[in-house]
Amino acid sequence: MKRILVTGGAGFIGSCLCKRLLNEGNDLICLDNYFTGSKDNILDLIGQPRFELVRHDVITPYYAEVDEIYNLACPASPVHYQYNPIKTVKTSVMGAINVLGLAKRVRCKVLQASTSEVYGDPIVHPQVESYWGNVNPIGIRSCYDEGKRCAETLFMDYHRQNGVRIKIIRIFNTYGPNMNPDDGRVVSNFIVQALRNEDITIYGKGEQTRSFQYVDDLVDGMMRMMATDDSVTGPVNIGNPSEFSILELAEKILMITGSKSKLVFRPLPQDDPTQRQPDISQASALLNGWKPKVQLDEGLTKTVDYFRTRITRS
Ligand code: NAD
Ligand code: UDP
Repeated sequence: MKRILVTGGAGFIGSCLCKRLLNEGNDLICLDNYFTGSKDNILDLIGQPRFELVRHDVITPYYAEVDEIYNLACPASPVHYQYNPIKTVKTSVMGAINVLGLAKRVRCKVLQASTSEVYGDPIVHPQVESYWGNVNPIGIRSCYDEGKRCAETLFMDYHRQNGVRIKIIRIFNTYGPNMNPDDGRVVSNFIVQALRNEDITIYGKGEQTRSFQYVDDLVDGMMRMMATDDSVTGPVNIGNPSEFSILELAEKILMITGSKSKLVFRPLPQDDPTQRQPDISQASALLNGWKPKVQLDEGLTKTVDYFRTRITRS
């Protein structure tokens, strides 16, 4: 049994990770300020003896004797991270400094949930970890992209300067149950719109691409990364290389839900990346042959089932 701290544990990915870690017999501290997360996501864990819930903001230090930290605290949807961009930068940067300070003090492992956004609007395709990216430092996405880039810098510097045992993963677009219906990202927007027979909002022409990963595959990859020996620091891409245009995604969701929704076209947000696809050869080599198991149709079907129940309940 390990003592594990998950920051952002009440969010979409954090709650799925907490469930897996608890099922495997670990002792968990789930820390969150509930900005985009919710106690509803972890309702079934509250009250279990090995689960502790802490309301805390990662921009102030937090201390606990733990063996591992998964640092997930940060809004991930463009709508939410752009709501208070200064706070987003503080969460990424000060949050990283605080978890790294804790990891240094208690000599534990610390994993950073970084993002494919560090590649910005990528010119190299698919994206390999050695690519430095194409990020606008002063645009509306920069608070998130540059915040996460700076967090990666801090992780590497704490490792080089202080020997902190770090792991960096770069997560590509992930979806699945426990996403908030108001999250604002494309998969949840389209499914909720389809289930309500409302218009499906395509930004731009819908020709931009993303590679969508089901959350269970990500959680598996995260835990495998944490289990690697100290020589493996990353960054390592974790994503599903199957690439789809946003129009293709909308059509799949219409098909799976049987919805009568119409596609409507809205302006493309500033700096919206035109393409994204992970090269996962590093992950396969370093994480015991890890590769995603759930393909888009299967994952969307499970996610639609989740939203059907969730929307009927609310
Ligand atoms: P989410 O918004 O559902 O979860 C983020 C969690 O962090 C929420 O519970 C939120 O309340 C909490 N949080 C935010 N600011 C905080 C603060 N200052 N202090 C404490 N808690 C705070 O998003 P998610 O999709 O679950 O993303 C989790 C992590 O994974 C994020 O760091 C995100 O950048 C990263 N990531 C996600 C994706 C994806 O596709 N879902 C892709 C790349 C990276
Ligand atoms: N998008 C869209 N309609 C929506 C929400 C998003 O067409 O209702 C597009 C968005 O412009 C982007 C892609 O879907 O090109 C993925 O957006 P998301 O916010 O999920 O994540 P991103 O990868 O941009 O961070």
